[in-house]
Formats: sequence, C-alpha cells, structure tokens
Amino acid sequence: MNKKYLCPVCGFHGLKEPPYGHGNEPSYEVCPCCGFEFGFDGGNTEEYFSKFRQRWIEEGTQWFILKSKPKNWDYKKQLRNLKK
Ligand SMILES: [Zn+2]
Repeated sequence: MNKKYLCPVCGFHGLKEPPYGHGNEPSYEVCPCCGFEFGFDGGNTEEYFSKFRQRWIEEGTQWFILKSKPKNWDYKKQLRNLKK
C-alpha cells in the first residue's frame, strides 16, 4: 500500500497520510513542499490553506524539504491539482 495524498495547501501529491482523517483528526505530517503542518498550522478549512498558500507564494515557493523537490518543478502546474 503506497497510497499518496494531496496537500490541500500547495497541491503536492505525495503525502504519506491523509491530512485530516477520521473525525477530522489531523495527521501532523509536514508537507515536504510548502511546509504546512496539518493540525498545527491550521485546521481543515480553505481559509487556513489559502492564507498559508498566499504567504508561501509570496515568499518564493520554497520547499520545506529541498531534496524532495523534483527537477523542472513548477508550482503553478502543481497548484492546478487543487482545482478538481
Ligand atoms: Zn503542501
């Protein structure tokens, strides 16, 4: 089982756990891309996500774990994952 989950903040598709599971319980996983920690940086609402996302974009879309960053990575392309 190697299911991957989508980060609702930056659209990164590679989280090990669902960010918010049963009963909205946060995973406390930190997204290796945008660095959002589910349950710590905010709750499961778009309000928190978009605020964090905005700041992340303004600060230059830095990867939290730089070695996870793929070559030719494009944050705009990744953000499109969120629009489904
Ligand atoms: Zn993220």
